[in-house]
Amino acid sequence: MISYEEALKLVDAHVSTLDKTEVRLSEMAGCYLAENVIATMASPQFDNSAVDGYGIKTADLNTATQSSPKQLKLITAIAAGSPKELQISQGEAVKIFTGARVPPSCEAVVMREYCREENGRVHIECSAKPGENIRRTGDEYKKGEIVLEAGIKATPPVIALLASLGYLKFPVFKKPRVSLVVTGDELVEPGNPLKDGQIYDSNAYGLTAALDALGIAGSKSFIARDTREETREAFEKALIDSDMVISSGGVSVGDHDYVKETVESLGFKTVFWRIAMKPGKPVYFGVLDTQEGGRKYVFGLPGNPVSVLVTFHQIVKPALRKLAGGAFFRNETVRVTTGSALKKRPGRLDFIRGTLKRSDKGKSIAVPTKGQESHMLSGLAKAQVMLHFEADQEVLNAEEPVDVTFINWND
Ligand code: AMP
Ligand code: MG
Repeated sequence: MISYEEALKLVDAHVSTLDKTEVRLSEMAGCYLAENVIATMASPQFDNSAVDGYGIKTADLNTATQSSPKQLKLITAIAAGSPKELQISQGEAVKIFTGARVPPSCEAVVMREYCREENGRVHIECSAKPGENIRRTGDEYKKGEIVLEAGIKATPPVIALLASLGYLKFPVFKKPRVSLVVTGDELVEPGNPLKDGQIYDSNAYGLTAALDALGIAGSKSFIARDTREETREAFEKALIDSDMVISSGGVSVGDHDYVKETVESLGFKTVFWRIAMKPGKPVYFGVLDTQEGGRKYVFGLPGNPVSVLVTFHQIVKPALRKLAGGAFFRNETVRVTTGSALKKRPGRLDFIRGTLKRSDKGKSIAVPTKGQESHMLSGLAKAQVMLHFEADQEVLNAEEPVDVTFINWND
């Protein structure tokens, strides 16, 4: 059995990012950018006002106070979007709205709240520093600068930023196409009555939702009874038009576990099978180089509903991120403090599902949720983090440092 760390290294070594393509901004959510974003223009593009107020010369307001306001002659108004260039002189003010161009002759903009207009004049109750409330050209970035690097996910602010630079389309990496194979004689589709000994298939729903959360929509699921023939048929169907197939169940050492032998019989090279982690020991990973020059991947995940989602989160998600062109392969971990003492046998890295709380001393503490067995979905459903109870550790004392992974289904 290999360690979780070794498994991640092998995944990283075997997964190659998909090809580039170009998509419209409206279809970009969930993709990773395939090229650096170079500023097509400076931001801000022109000096503009951060507030609604009055553009002035600062020397005019040196002595202005609430009790002794200064009066300036109001010459005109400049609204956002108006291209007007104008000159103001000593003793004059111009009314300006947020986002409107500030003419070079204005040295500052005073917020409307400190001003009162009367008979073509404006009374101003405070002084102003040069540049106050003016957003200067190029303050954020200059034309030609790299604003974002390739490999960042097209999140709402990334898409907004591309739009702000005038892009309609942008190069991204192709999104992975993923299908599911769900194995088990005992499984019944929710909505149908259960017979004795049967259970509802929750893994297809959990995995589909996990893929959706990553922006991989429309994955198909194929159900296989625990026979060689049905398992093979399901994988054959699932592999058509997919970069990756994720299966649940049938991957352990039971008499009815056909996933590994089926995938191998379809020509896949086994990269690993079984990881020293809990939950999730029997995880299988295989790759197949296709005649068309591409590569397909199979992750055989265990059947237990918690194991399937924890292994998806800890192993498959990094693989999907790399496939999709993400710059960061690993899930982020942070170091916090354990909330209660934990014990286990050495040998496997135990991902304990927990929540984060703030201790009286202001420290972040990770507390296991109720329901830690690998069939207890409620314990995972309530969790925010996974505590890393390291493989060689037997005891984790309360208040000891512990690494946690944030449970994040979105990237
Ligand atoms: P397996 O890995 O096939 O031996 O399954 C391990 C456990 O997970 C068994 O208790 C199964 O009944 C359960 N299980 C397998 N597949 C599913 C599924 N799709 N939904 C819910 N439970 C499952
Ligand atoms: Mg099974």
